[in-house]
Formats: sequence, C-alpha cells, structure tokens
Amino acid sequence: MRDVGCPEEELFSFLSSKRQDDLGYRSILSSMCTPPHPVAVRAHMIFIETNLGDPGLFPGTSALEDLLVERLGTLMHRPDAGGYATSGGTESNIQALRIAKKLKPVNSPNVVMPASGHFSFTKACDMLGVEARTVPLDPEFRMNVEMAEDLIDANTVALVGVVGTTEYGMIDPIARLSEIALDRDIFLHVDAAFGGMVAPFLDRPIPFDFRLPGVSSISVDPHKMGMSTIPAGCLLVRDPDWFSRLSVDTPYLTVKREFTLAGTRPGAPVAAAVAVLEYMGRDGMKAVVSGCMENCRRLIEGMETLGCPRAVTPDVNVATFRCERAPPGWRVSMTRQGHMRIVCMPHVTRDVVEEFLADMCDMNA
Ligand SMILES: *Cc1c(COP(=O)(O)O)cnc(C)c1O
Repeated sequence: MRDVGCPEEELFSFLSSKRQDDLGYRSILSSMCTPPHPVAVRAHMIFIETNLGDPGLFPGTSALEDLLVERLGTLMHRPDAGGYATSGGTESNIQALRIAKKLKPVNSPNVVMPASGHFSFTKACDMLGVEARTVPLDPEFRMNVEMAEDLIDANTVALVGVVGTTEYGMIDPIARLSEIALDRDIFLHVDAAFGGMVAPFLDRPIPFDFRLPGVSSISVDPHKMGMSTIPAGCLLVRDPDWFSRLSVDTPYLTVKREFTLAGTRPGAPVAAAVAVLEYMGRDGMKAVVSGCMENCRRLIEGMETLGCPRAVTPDVNVATFRCERAPPGWRVSMTRQGHMRIVCMPHVTRDVVEEFLADMCDMNA
C-alpha cells in the first residue's frame, strides 16, 4: 500500500485508463452479459451500500429480495416458491446440489447431468464430493434422456436439465426429465441461468418450470437476459422448507440463522433486478426476447448465405456455426466442438448483426 494516499484526480485518471483497456459491448458477441438497463443502474446506485447478509438492518432491501423471489416464482408458475438472490448461476447450482444431497443421504452420491452442463457443476461436484455422471447429447445437442435413465441408480441424488445451454442455446427435454424424476423419486434441478429469462417469453414457450410436477429447483440469472447489474442470480425451490437443511447459526447478526452460501451479500443488484422486471413487465420482456430471437434468425440466415452453416437451430438466442474465424475487431467464442458461437444479447442489435455480416463478407472477398 502507498504510505500517502493518491490525489483523487490522479487516481481517477489511472482508473479511467484501465477502463479504456476493456472492450466495449458493441464488439462483444461472445458474452451472456449485456450492459445493464438504465433503470437497473439507477436502482443499483440507490442501494449501493446495502447488505442482505444482515437483513434486519435493511428490511426495505430485504423486502425487495422477497419481491424478486415472488416475481420470478410466479413467472415460473409457483408464486410461493422458496428462493433467494445469489451471485449468479454458479452459486445457484452449488446450492441446489447441496440441498439435493442433504435430502437424500447416501454413501457415494452421484448427479446425472447432460454433457452440455455448465462448468459450475464441476465445481459444485468437487466441493460436495459428488460424482458427476454426464449424459451424452442427441444430434441436436439436447440431453439424451434414454441414456440418462441408464446412468441413474440408487445413489443418484439429483438429475440436472438445462434450459438454454451455454454453448448451443438448447433446451433439454425437461418434461421427460420431470416424469423420470417423479417416477424414481429424484431431485430435478433445472439450470435456467440463461434461458430462464428467455423461455417464458418465447412465442411458443416450451414447458420447463414448476408447472412440471417433477421440477424441484430452478436457477435463473437476472444479470444475463434480465439486464440487471452484476452480480444478480436467483435460486428458486419448490419447497421453501428445504433451505432449512442448509441453515447455520449466525450468533452476532440480526437474524439467527442463514442458509445462503455468501455471508455479506449486495442488495444493489437485487434492487436492480426488481427494477427491470417491474419496469419492463411481461410485454416489455417479450419485446426484448422477440427482438433477440429475430436478430438471431437473421444472423443465422446471413451466415448461411455466406457459406457458414448453422451447427443447430437453437431454442434460445445463441447461434453456432461451422466457421473458422470472425473478422478482425469482433469477439466471438468457440465451443468445445469447434463451432463459432455468438450470443444474440440485447446489445447485439440488428445494426450490429448487419455490420458483422458485412465484415464477414469483406473478409471472405
Ligand atoms: C451463465 C451460466 C451459469 C453460470 O452463471 P454465473 O452467473 O456465471 O455464475 C450456469 N449455467 C448456465 C446454463 C449458464 O448459462
């Protein structure tokens, strides 16, 4: 540390220079995050010093967290679902598997999940000492349900399905997983970190939520398609009592018990997430999602015209191509199977798509 503090102007010119080294979202086609909605930023600033880790000191902010859970629970067809605001999909997935493991004490627990599962499950299984059994995908990159059934045994504590896979934007056959989960009495966690704020607003929604009786818990991230500030995730569970399995005593706080993974937790992104939901309403979210899906279709059509076929027709706004490289200046990513991947987030507007396609065309000329 410096012996004597740095003058403010000097400090901020240093910080600004670092910020200028960051990429602007305009050229980023590889991220599931997007610039926060202006109402999210405004709400975030009002709640900047709040700490949900000690909710008795911040009852107003805490009520907003309850409202977030109620709104998202209702969106997922279970208004009285339990839930809390996490730091994102990773924490939600860890906590869901923790609950599943506690609910079914066995000697060598395993979790059956699709090969498309997010890498956060690798962390979760490592931390929890749970074996990860990965199910191969079908030709459209969805979980092969028959093969999932073969991997389930008496030590399976949870089955995982993904709504909006990170790499290909696919929705696993959750309705069939729900039947299996009920049939074999297994906890079913639905990872809708990305797709949870897309799937409910599609023109032809695919059932994936608590309407399916076998679904036990759902991860959904307001900091992705929910256009909130970072970090805003949410874990929803069918039975609020399950959280008591995770509770520890918290002697010196305003509440006596806590089931969250983090202790100190920011209220600002929670207020931001609520602000976006309230401001947009269902109609507003439908408009955003339908715009992203439309841009995704246009991108796929344009890329195919340029000789880059789609890897698959996605269920949500993630496009993948057989294509070697992107034009200079654009940031795309590659999947593990070597497909170019573009996430059509709200900042990837029609103009951005057309600009990208024009640059692709120039590069190939
Ligand atoms: C993004 C994502 C995660 C991880 O979420 P973080 O917010 O990065 O922790 C988990 N699962 C899926 C399907 C995701 O898209």
